[in-house]
Amino acid sequence: MAQPTCATHAQSRALYQCDGCGKLLCDACIEESHRLLLCRLCGERALPLAPRLPPPSRSAASRPGRSPPRGPTDSARPCSIRSAARGC
Ligand SMILES: [Zn+2]
Ligand SMILES: [Zn+2]
Repeated sequence: MAQPTCATHAQSRALYQCDGCGKLLCDACIEESHRLLLCRLCGERALPLAPRLPPPSRSAASRPGRSPPRGPTDSARPCSIRSAARGC
């Protein structure tokens, strides 16, 4: 797999892609503002290419009781909770 190169700096490796103009951006082509990465060309968000993202589902599965991302199992079956109190 060839490494993506910056649209402006052909010798620089692209680490981001602009969400506005869609160009590949290197470190010199982005601007950090309020913890956001912005494209210097158009000012839109620069999204990290992140070719090797760690699988989030794996790390979440290793810690099941920490913070469930969505759909808590308790509210998924409310009747079973009510049935104990109301006897439905
Ligand atoms: Zn842009
Ligand atoms: Zn660049």
